[in-house]
Amino acid sequence: MLELYQITKKYKDKLALDKVSLTLDNGIYGLLGPNGAGKSTLMNIITGNIKPSNGQVKWNKQDIEALGAEYRSLLGYAPQQQGLYNTFTGRRFLSYMATLKGISKKEQPSEIERVLSYVNMTEAANRKIGTYSGGMKQRILIAQAILGDPKLIVLDEPTAGLDPKERVRVRERIQALSGDKIILVSTHVVSDIEPIAKEIILIKSGDLIDRDTVPRLCEKYGNVNDLEKLYMEIFGGDEHNASTGTL
Ligand code: ADP
Ligand code: MG
Repeated sequence: MLELYQITKKYKDKLALDKVSLTLDNGIYGLLGPNGAGKSTLMNIITGNIKPSNGQVKWNKQDIEALGAEYRSLLGYAPQQQGLYNTFTGRRFLSYMATLKGISKKEQPSEIERVLSYVNMTEAANRKIGTYSGGMKQRILIAQAILGDPKLIVLDEPTAGLDPKERVRVRERIQALSGDKIILVSTHVVSDIEPIAKEIILIKSGDLIDRDTVPRLCEKYGNVNDLEKLYMEIFGGDEHNASTGTL
């Protein structure tokens, strides 16, 4: 179980997160909000990459800072930025990440084959990451996030910049991750997360607006019948339409 207590993050005088409290148990959660809402900041705090200005993150009742390496070993994270490690092959990158995660040299070969096969990247594994398509880069990022079978998986906009076919593939791979984990997936595109998320967490300008199932959210906000309309209702349409190319 992951618990956030009153998480606040300020970048100088910019308030990126304002007293966000949240408890998650196993399942897939969609973290939904427009650009600048605070999604990446929240994910970086959950993964321990940045410290909150205030508040606390707990894993099974223990502070994640106190847990340290133990927490990192049960955590998988795919950051939003791509373009790192372009000169590595996919396999070399996974081997590097496996070492960082403390997976022993003995266990690495089978674990790397497992995650490559999971994201359907076995055949491209010996090519340099720089030659991959956007979808392949996202899938290799997901592969490294699931190395060592982590109990908490955080994926920051894993479908950003992908074409419709690749989006579906990435979504299906996320969906197939087994049920005994917490999986948090951020997006500003409703259709990427709606079919697979147990609950949606709505975030706007650093505020957690609500978290609930899709039908309950639709009922609560403006009595709309789908999440796409709800998104428009809460966040407005312009940026969303621009980013998904539906205008
Ligand atoms: P999202 O991932 O939802 O697009 P971010 O968490 O990246 O949102 O950003 C939230 C807000 O914090 C934005 O206004 C952004 O400009 C600001 N921000 C993010 N990172 C920094 C930083 N390192 N320094 C200053 N401001 C930042
Ligand atoms: Mg972001």
